[in-house]
Amino acid sequence: MDAPRVAIIGAGASGLCMAMQLKRAGLTSFTIYERGADLGGTWRDNTYPGAGCDIPSHLYSYSFAPKHDWPRKYASQAEILSYLRGCAQRYGLGGHLRLGAEVVRAEWIGRGWRLSLADGEQAEAQFVVAATGQLSEPSVPELPGLGGFRGASFHSARWDHGHDLEGQDVAVVGTGASAIQLVPELARVSRSLTIYQRTPNWVLPKPDREFSRLEKAAFAAVPGAERLYRWLVYWTYETRFVAFRHPRVGRVLVGAPAALAARSRAGPPPPRPDYPVGCKRILISNDWFRVLERPSVELVTDPIEEVTAHAVVAGGRVRRADAIIFATGFRSTAFLGGMEVVGKEGRTLAEVWQGGAWAYLGVAVPGFPNLFLLYGPNTNLGHSSILFMVERQVAWALRRIRAGVQVDVDPAAATRYQAGVERRMGGTVWSAGCRSWYKTPEGRVTNNWPSYTVRYWWETKRPRPGSLRLAGKEEL
Ligand code: NAP
Repeated sequence: MDAPRVAIIGAGASGLCMAMQLKRAGLTSFTIYERGADLGGTWRDNTYPGAGCDIPSHLYSYSFAPKHDWPRKYASQAEILSYLRGCAQRYGLGGHLRLGAEVVRAEWIGRGWRLSLADGEQAEAQFVVAATGQLSEPSVPELPGLGGFRGASFHSARWDHGHDLEGQDVAVVGTGASAIQLVPELARVSRSLTIYQRTPNWVLPKPDREFSRLEKAAFAAVPGAERLYRWLVYWTYETRFVAFRHPRVGRVLVGAPAALAARSRAGPPPPRPDYPVGCKRILISNDWFRVLERPSVELVTDPIEEVTAHAVVAGGRVRRADAIIFATGFRSTAFLGGMEVVGKEGRTLAEVWQGGAWAYLGVAVPGFPNLFLLYGPNTNLGHSSILFMVERQVAWALRRIRAGVQVDVDPAAATRYQAGVERRMGGTVWSAGCRSWYKTPEGRVTNNWPSYTVRYWWETKRPRPGSLRLAGKEEL
């Protein structure tokens, strides 16, 4: 039997994980199509000042590619990107990588998939792994008058490093995970910084620190030390899901320390969130409340009314702006948004997902054989490392790819699975009333996994007779 040909779409952390595991399994007939000019996905795109990860690096890294010498508990964007580059190099992925190659269409053609690239090229593959991420399409609000703004304006994930913000009057729109990292950096260089907040967030102190030389040496030299530390971090984070499952517990566990952190500042307290803890991402920062005390920094909670040539108008007040930074998040619920995917009988993914995206295990959609999604619907986390989930998805897909036969999900099994996801979602903090990037505008939670990651591990591990339709093979 010929080795199965695999097309991976996207060279972010998920796509690279798939590629490395294919290599580890001895499968080398694969191509990674990456629309950008480099690998790294979100860690390539988000180069804003202060960018980093709010999950400890020993857990936010591949279990099979540990790095013993993370300089500190929470890595910066540059360190993570360098780690991903190192992994790609170690596994010899360079020869498999097609940069600047944007897949715009994928069509099932009976024996596999035909891919159409933006430049008109076509390619075929037996299996397609879509690793396009949930946070790759920046969202910029259509503010009245924005087109007439004469200063610089850009999104946090498309940072214009050619534009010097030193000494400028800067406006930042949004106060989510990106803003909370870039605001303290901008406050240091700007003349004035105006932060436009629509909804306040729950913010906890960031328990960051450097690793000592002794610790790094121990991680490298003592057998099992790094692995033990990773597991300690994993279980610490895993227990945090209790706050997402039981909103009242979250209010005590997170609400109290968050309120304390906000109160410890001088001056009037910043606005307090009025939605359940965790409904939006819980943020961690040691600078956020201190930055708000700076005389050059103003937090504006009035809605933005319009943008003029040199200012932002909110609450009837005109505030000068030389630059507007949109830390306004991503079009997160449009999974595979920019790509047309045509499955069996000509049905498109967009048609199947009209009421919101869903997939069996977040990985497979009935009627779309041999297509595997990584970081797909209902697999995002609020409490732990997404790479844990991605590794489970990669293992699940790899098992099917190795078999080399046509595999499709049984529609009834997929429907049953999704009903379970929806059932467990009820009662979580996300099903309560708050707007977030985890939900469609209609309120369906399409992005988050509604349980402990251990449960996801088991769901992807346990045999489920009859859940897959395989051509010429028993259940895998
Ligand atoms: P986000 O969490 O979606 O935050 C967007 C912010 O922009 C929110 O404050 C939102 O307000 C505001 N906003 C959106 N549209 C607006 C409008 N029209 N007018 C005024 N305000 C508006 O986006 P993000 O901060 O880029 O983070 C997205 C996700 O990326 C995070 O949740 C996290 O998963 C990931 N991330 C992770 C890290 C990390 O450390 N690992 C760092 C950065 C990002 P509302 O709340 O009212 O919608």
